[in-house]
Amino acid sequence: MALTETVPAAAPPAHEGILRRQSLRESAARTYARSLPIVPVRARGLTIEGADGRRYLDCLSGAGTLALGHNHPVVLEAIRTVLDSGAPLHVLDLATPVKDAFTTELFATLPGKLAETARIQFCGPAGTDAVEAAFKLVRTATGRDGLMAFSGAYHGMTAEALAASGGAQHTSVVRLPYPYDYRCPFQTGGERGAELAARWTRSLLDDPKSGVPTPAGMILEPVQGEGGVIPAPDGWLRRMREITAARQIPLIVDEVQTGVGRTGAFWAVDHSGVVPDVIVLSKAIGGSLPLAVIVYREELDAWQPGAHAGTFRGNQLAMAAGAATLAYVRTNGLDRRAGELGARMLDRLTALAAAHDCIGDVRGRGLMLGVELVDRSADADAMGARPADPRLAAAVQHACLERGLIVELGGRHSAVVRLLPPLTITDEQAEAILDRLADAIAAAVRTTPGPTGSSPTTMRGTSP
Ligand code: PMP
Repeated sequence: MALTETVPAAAPPAHEGILRRQSLRESAARTYARSLPIVPVRARGLTIEGADGRRYLDCLSGAGTLALGHNHPVVLEAIRTVLDSGAPLHVLDLATPVKDAFTTELFATLPGKLAETARIQFCGPAGTDAVEAAFKLVRTATGRDGLMAFSGAYHGMTAEALAASGGAQHTSVVRLPYPYDYRCPFQTGGERGAELAARWTRSLLDDPKSGVPTPAGMILEPVQGEGGVIPAPDGWLRRMREITAARQIPLIVDEVQTGVGRTGAFWAVDHSGVVPDVIVLSKAIGGSLPLAVIVYREELDAWQPGAHAGTFRGNQLAMAAGAATLAYVRTNGLDRRAGELGARMLDRLTALAAAHDCIGDVRGRGLMLGVELVDRSADADAMGARPADPRLAAAVQHACLERGLIVELGGRHSAVVRLLPPLTITDEQAEAILDRLADAIAAAVRTTPGPTGSSPTTMRGTSP
């Protein structure tokens, strides 16, 4: 080789090309792909392996979809059985043995009396489709039009679901206060804050000059997920049930993210004993494949045939994977396990918060956990809350990824680090997750200046 010849540069690793092509070809609306620049090629349980050979502990779990983690053997087996059986994979909304088994398994878990008279509507495949169906159902059944939803809510990205979500820009949906201890709009928090929120809701409905007509329905999440992991107190949920029942307003509970054991009960409403009129379900019920349904009291079933149609309502593989997931969670008591393990993880997060003044709050229910990062250099309000620090949260997410941990951000200002691990994780895996998170927070506080730019965020008890 002549000395003047240049040595060809080593080809960039395949995953870099894939990431580059993604950023060139996919829309500006892409989300997770921006903060998590990895190319998953293999996955099992809690672990994802990237095309670059790196391994990650996945606490995003398909945005809370993977109750059993990636590629659980019972899920794979259920899918293979359908594939090998010669059953049709696309059947619109026709009856099949696979669908029959899914519905039977789902109904076996339903809260309270709902199971006795429930109706199910298979919707288009996403959670947002089921939310739209729920709104349409209650409008038809009540002949009313308006809806009530809560600040901080997230119900999806289609028009009506978005209108009922906290990020709505144009909406006719009436917004109600959701109990949020750390940032209580009434500056009281606790039971008193929840009671005041309930009173506000009641007064809007009963004041003939509130400007709020009786709505077709009220929709709420038992734990706001995307809104920043905010569990509603059980007492407040019961109050919402009483208020809506007394005024013949259907209560729609969105369990898209909280369902199938995630919060420590099979359905999050089970903690409070509340039986909704409509439950919206997706994510985990499809065992990692797309599936969405609404389940509701039969009295609401005033739809005409074809009132809510759709081509993709018969995903046989999703129903088989979903039935296997539901049965596995039920028979292995994974809901209880999520409650116990989640409580222990929350204890450790509480200790972490005591060591870092950039952690304003830690909260959660079961294996739906959140760490709210705040600007320690800013003044606290009367309740002790400081402004959110999204920049630090993004730095923590990045530092987690560097340490092989995938976490999600949520909350009003994207300043809540969210943990949604599979319900199947071991104690050791839970410890590993928290070790990496603690290390990532310590690293991020060392390197990230506060939002004011004045001082780096520091650990409690250490000098800056
Ligand atoms: N409701 C809740 C509570 C959710 O968390 C989500 C998704 N994060 C949705 C609805 C919308 O589901 P999808 O993204 O499947 O449309």
